[in-house]
Amino acid sequence: MAQLGRVLCIITGASRGLGRAIAKEMAQQVKPKSVFVLVARSGDALRDLETELTESDLEVRCLVLDLSSMDAPETVVQTAKEAFSPDIEHVMLFNNAGAIGDVSRFSRSFTSMAEVNSYLSFNVSSALCLTAGVLQAFPKQSGLRRCVVNISSLCALKPFSSWVLYCTGKAARDMMFKVLAEEEPDVRVLNYAPGPLDTEMLTFARNNSGDLGVKNSISQMFDEGKVLTCEATCAKLMKLLLEDKYTSGDHIDVYDV
Ligand code: NDP
Repeated sequence: MAQLGRVLCIITGASRGLGRAIAKEMAQQVKPKSVFVLVARSGDALRDLETELTESDLEVRCLVLDLSSMDAPETVVQTAKEAFSPDIEHVMLFNNAGAIGDVSRFSRSFTSMAEVNSYLSFNVSSALCLTAGVLQAFPKQSGLRRCVVNISSLCALKPFSSWVLYCTGKAARDMMFKVLAEEEPDVRVLNYAPGPLDTEMLTFARNNSGDLGVKNSISQMFDEGKVLTCEATCAKLMKLLLEDKYTSGDHIDVYDV
């Protein structure tokens, strides 16, 4: 298996759930003196994670930031540029932050452009603008590998009643990164669907989904022990990244690894 090398690792939504697990798993895989840029709104949670990560020989920058704000992508890119050193062999961006949105209502209730735009601004636009900024800040050069991971979902492929914002955002993101893979053949692009995870997001969906069938099927997954831990799905994600055999732009589901 290939090594990831000395990595500049940017992870959005690192304060809890999957993003936090990715940070901890990546810390085990990278060479010493790698640099982590961790982004989320919850400063205390990020700093706790920083304390854990710096037990390994890593540099960590915490960015307490709301990714829905217009200047957020630029702020992340600026921090990443400052953190970069010529020793870095690999830039890896994990577009993990996301919100499920209001799942209590059905499509016909979304008449407010402001509400829909606000959702898409954070969940779609910020991921594109951040990715573009990172690729510009670290252009193609010999000795520097570049990898962009989009944390996707089954919802990018399959409609779920009362989840119109979430499904739309995930489908758009998948296509965005597929286009990127076409355009940038030297960038490794992965759309990874992590499966149902035991995080605040799925608990929120279980408690709030407007569609009773969807709500009950999530409850059933919890009851039957079918919900995955973040560590289990991260292990599969790392396998994909380390083996590095996936076709750039592909959507790969945890159950296919
Ligand atoms: P959580 O809700 O547990 O965590 C979401 C993360 O995103 C948190 O770190 C949160 O940090 C951050 N975040 C949310 N809003 C913002 C914002 N405006 N600005 C910056 N950061 C923000 O979700 P999961 O860990 O479950 O989800 C992670 C990814 O996995 C998401 O993209 C999700 O769609 C995807 N996924 C999850 C599944 C599941 O079953 N849980 C299934 C399939 C995909 P903070 O609040 O501190 O800002």
